[in-house]
Amino acid sequence: MKQSHLFTKTQKENPAGEISINAQYLIRAGFVDKLSSGIYTFLPLGLRVVKKIQDIVRNEMDALGAQEILMPSLHPKENWETTGRWDVEEMYKIDGEPYGLGWTHEEIVTPLLKKFILSGKDLPKAVYQIQTKFRNEPRAKSGLLRGREFVMKDLYSFHENQDDLDDYYEQVKEAYFKVYNSLGLGEITYLTLASGGTFSKYSHEFQTITNAGEDIIYICPKCKLATNKEVFDGKCPQCGSTNLEEKKAIEVGNIFKLGTKYTAPFAFNGQNGSPLVMGCYGIGITRLLGTVVETMNDTKGMIWPQSIAPFAIHLIQIDGGDESVAPKGEELYDILQKEGFEVLYDNRGEKTVGEKLNDADLIGIPLRIIISKKTLAEDSVELKERKEEKSSLVKIKELVNQLKENAK
Ligand code: ATP
Ligand code: MG
Repeated sequence: MKQSHLFTKTQKENPAGEISINAQYLIRAGFVDKLSSGIYTFLPLGLRVVKKIQDIVRNEMDALGAQEILMPSLHPKENWETTGRWDVEEMYKIDGEPYGLGWTHEEIVTPLLKKFILSGKDLPKAVYQIQTKFRNEPRAKSGLLRGREFVMKDLYSFHENQDDLDDYYEQVKEAYFKVYNSLGLGEITYLTLASGGTFSKYSHEFQTITNAGEDIIYICPKCKLATNKEVFDGKCPQCGSTNLEEKKAIEVGNIFKLGTKYTAPFAFNGQNGSPLVMGCYGIGITRLLGTVVETMNDTKGMIWPQSIAPFAIHLIQIDGGDESVAPKGEELYDILQKEGFEVLYDNRGEKTVGEKLNDADLIGIPLRIIISKKTLAEDSVELKERKEEKSSLVKIKELVNQLKENAK
């Protein structure tokens, strides 16, 4: 994509009233626009990142044998009255109408699957969606970390018995870590014991260490298991160690053994007449985007991991008034695209060198390539990784091979 074509612009000043780093950088760089507290538009650069996170999550869900669906956002009151959850504070209700906006989907997915699962032969089954959730969040002040409207992946599984659920639950746990590893968050994301449901002592959260987080967790350095402050009483529940580390963290996912909590009210029963056993598993897609920004940045801007960067390469043309540079830049842009690299090409004529480099740092694409009169004098371009200080000159005719080598 040519930067001259991008309709969004970067902003020098921090947006007023935004205290979180993710909101400041994402707004300044033109990844998102704030419509209202906790409500954001995803702009071209931001949407590319959202889609990449979704694809990583989707691949892991498909690998679990779960089938993707898309459920409605508009929910009939009746479904929520069946479980007694119509009157919860999260729910946005449509004034004067028997509808509310979906903040989770147990009340929709349970009667849905009941229509299709007719015998034990149809079990187990798992479905998931990547969809917009609405929640009346009183504390929407952390940018994408806590939205009133946000994107979640929610997976639901249905089983004939507890053993089968337990088995699947462990597989989901592993899949979740694959997701966090792919995003470069694996090292700072902890499996965390949290308040359980009706059928298990604990549920599990996946908590990423960041000062922007709203949760306090206690990490056991021995077994790497963490415990949420809400259920913490003294020592590590796994190994008994008392030497735990207190950290601020943000919940980037959670998994829950629901048992028969929702299958019972909807009379979703198995062969033996008793309700099926259910699990639910969430990942905050847009919260993850915000978490990556919170944990991967410096004073100049964001530093995207390759896996979800909006573009792999930021090609910057600096002509210094020399008309011979631009055609060479165009040529290189075409070559890189034909070779399959995703390139943002800063071909803007009206910007100074300083403005272009500042924008590149702010936007945070992992690799920067500068083509200028100076580099062309040596038949070269200048290569610099966003996270490194030093740059290097590479001959243009060796560039593609070197990039392919690096990508391995
Ligand atoms: P929290 O305790 O942070 O409010 P939650 O327990 O309400 O989270 P769930 O209902 O389990 O969260 O939702 C599943 C996932 O969706 C969470 O793990 C989180 O990553 C994400 N999520 C929850 N609420 C929000 C929100 N308001 N904005 C963005 N993401 C959210
Ligand atoms: Mg919540």
